[in-house]
This record gives sequence, C-alpha cells and structure tokens, in this order.
Amino acid sequence: MKKISILIPAYNEEEVLEQLYQRLGKLANDNKGYEFEFLFVNDGSRDKTMPMIKEYADTDDRIAYVDLSRNFGKEIAMIAGLDYVTGDAVVIIDADLQDPPELIPKMIGYWEEGYDDVYAKRNNREGESWLKKTTSKIYYRMLQKATHIQIQQDTGDFRLLDRKCIEALKQIRESQRYTKGMFSWIGFKKKEISYSRNPRAAGVTKWNYPKLINFAIDGLTSFTTAPLRISSFMGFIISLVAFIYIVVIIIRTLVYGVQAAGYPSIMAVVLFLGGVQLLSLGIIGEYIGRIFNETKGRPLYFTQDVHKTVEKKKR
Ligand code: UDP
Ligand code: MG
Repeated sequence: MKKISILIPAYNEEEVLEQLYQRLGKLANDNKGYEFEFLFVNDGSRDKTMPMIKEYADTDDRIAYVDLSRNFGKEIAMIAGLDYVTGDAVVIIDADLQDPPELIPKMIGYWEEGYDDVYAKRNNREGESWLKKTTSKIYYRMLQKATHIQIQQDTGDFRLLDRKCIEALKQIRESQRYTKGMFSWIGFKKKEISYSRNPRAAGVTKWNYPKLINFAIDGLTSFTTAPLRISSFMGFIISLVAFIYIVVIIIRTLVYGVQAAGYPSIMAVVLFLGGVQLLSLGIIGEYIGRIFNETKGRPLYFTQDVHKTVEKKKR
C-alpha cells in the first residue's frame, strides 16, 4: 500500500488543532486505499500545541511529530518535516485549515497519473487588503523577470510532492530558505489545480508586514544576483552622464569663462549620488550577509523530541 505523509508545520495552533485532526482523520477514513502518516512539526509553540499533539499520538499510530527546540519559522519547519517524512509522497498543509484537506484525494489522483508536484493555486484572495494584493502582484512580476524561473503566483506551500522531490529538497541546505522558489527550481513534472482558500478556521496569522518584506527580500536574493547587476548598470549610466557633463563644463568654461555654479543643482547631484551609493552598498551587503550566514554552516534546526510512526510491514 502506498503511503501518503501529511506534513503540518504548527506554531501556536492550539485553537485549530482539534478541528484539523478531525478533518484529517476523515480524509484517512475516506481513502482507505492509502496508508496515511500525519507528521506535525511543532515550531516552538508556546501554547498547548505540543501536549495536544502528544496526546493524539498516544492513541493514534498514524501520528508522528518533530518537536523543534525553538521557533525557527515556517520555512525551517518545513525542511525539518521533509527530513523525517516517510511516505511515498508528502502533502504540505497549513495547520489553520486555510488549505482544505478535501483537496488531497484530487492531488493523489494526479500523482497516480505520474505528476511529481501537484500544487494548489488559489483562485481568490478574499479577506486580504488591496495593498497586500497589489504589492504581491508587483513583487511576483519582478521576481519572475529577475530569476528566469517560473515561481507560481498565488500558490502557497499547499502541494503534493513525490519522493523524488522530497529527496531533491532535502539536499538544499541553505539557511535563509525561500522554499517556494525551490519547488520551482528543482523542476520535475508539475500539475496545477485551483482551489478557493478559506479564511483561517481559528487563531491568528503569524505573518506581519516586516516579516513579509524580509521574506520577499530573501526570495529575490536567494534566487538571483540581478540587483547587483542593476546597481553596476546604474553606476555605469550615472558615470557616463557625469563624464559628458564634465566635458560640457570644461568647454563652457573655456569659451565663456568662469561662471558661478548654482548651489541647488550641486546639492541635488551630491544627494542623488549619495543615495545611489548607499543603495548599492546595501545591495552588496545583502549578498555578503547571505554569504556570511551560509559559510557558518550551522545546522538548520535542533529537535527536542522526535516521534516516528511504527513502520508497518511491507508485503
Ligand atoms: N508557522 C510555523 N512557524 C512560524 C509561523 C507559522 O510553523 O513561525 C505555520 C503555522 O502554524 C501555519 C502555517 O505556518 O500552519 C501558516 O501560518 P499562518 O497561517 O500564520 O500564515 P498565513 O496563512 O497567514 O500566510
Ligand atoms: Mg494561515
């Protein structure tokens, strides 16, 4: 029997856990043709999430968990989960039931047809502000242009991945992870299905604008060096213009004699150049920071406790 692992990163999700557990149990009951494993990754929750998971695991041998030593963020929680997942395929799903588990059989269907990565694209973004929608749209367009890899818009981490993809992702050990880009980067046969994303069943979102902006910068800097190129290009253009201007000034001085130059125009040029230089330094700094973080070569996470499902005998 093929085994499907459901990977659930959870951070302070005590309010939805019970509901999630019910829905997953129903999913397993409706699909008796597969063996299921529910792997919870507790990402340093400070509420009752972990005791609840343990309680489920006591009575239910489909449940496995990885308890991380602190909150590492969803990206790290996902790779921790992938490291421990034992199924022939994995479905990554949010704990808050924004991704309906009822879509999973459809994903499995496509997987059986031979697709390796069946991802769910949301066809609505209700409940999100106009600002979030527009900035996200502009960002993806930029990212697409700069990276030359197809990064799916309106697609979260809700997807089914074949063992091949799991093994591929496990080999990517960079610490500032942008998993969404990695899904595209590894390739393999992809299939898109669309769904409508529900509002959070309970609890509150763990995202805020500063976090989102950091995530966006990680996305850009981990997949492209285009910003560095842009700053070189800008430097080149500005130098060229400045050079032409110098020539003009010299000729003008020779022909018309010395003229008192305007203070405002000098200020404008100095400030503009200062800005461009700081920006370029910042961009270079971003990449050096990444190099610094990666060269430390630290492990991605530490676990406090790992509970694996008992291997059923394979026929
Ligand atoms: N999550 C996590 N670690 C974190 C933040 C979030 O494991 O530091 C999990 C969270 O429990 C949920 C999923 O990531 O299962 C998505 O989080 P959330 O619903 O807050 O994000 P949103 O849906 O608003 O993008
Ligand atoms: Mg959510």
